[in-house]
Amino acid sequence: MLMHMTAIVDSRMTFEEATAGTRAPREIIDKLCLVDVRYRAFDGRLHQGQLIIHQEVKTDIVEIFGLIEQTVFPIFHVVPIVKYDWSDDLSMADNNTSAFNYRSVLGTDRLSNHAFGKAVDINPYLNPVIDEDGRIDLPGASYVPWRAGTFDDSHPVVREFLNRGWRWGGHFMPKKDYHHFDKPG
Ligand SMILES: [Zn+2]
Repeated sequence: MLMHMTAIVDSRMTFEEATAGTRAPREIIDKLCLVDVRYRAFDGRLHQGQLIIHQEVKTDIVEIFGLIEQTVFPIFHVVPIVKYDWSDDLSMADNNTSAFNYRSVLGTDRLSNHAFGKAVDINPYLNPVIDEDGRIDLPGASYVPWRAGTFDDSHPVVREFLNRGWRWGGHFMPKKDYHHFDKPG
């Protein structure tokens, strides 16, 4: 018997709303899609959010978020970054999980995989960027690998991304980017 489970809606945008105001060129926007994802949030309840991603990674994202829901890996919320006026800083400071954002890699003029919808950042407060000198830029954030909602090398969600050809920022050198996953190419 199927039971209908009502989710708390964290985001319910149309594709047009979720891409409004992006500086991305039309040929990039045309390859994107909007997916609904479900997760247990830190209140223990089922929530529904949304991600803007590249159509080529849709199956990966839908199935990995299926694993996230099944394994009750908690996520704060998943809201397209347009809500934060396309500011990565504001989205991260709100511990938001997001994917598409037409921007360059921090500190460079090279386009990030986020610019193509082929990267996703999950729970940035619990999985922050850590400089080679151990400094964390996000005020109040810390990395405690055994805390719920946090990734480490052996985490099933990390292994699932890696098995599908994604990279995990926790493997980046010298700067760790524990919340970041991307699929090159
Ligand atoms: Zn990222």
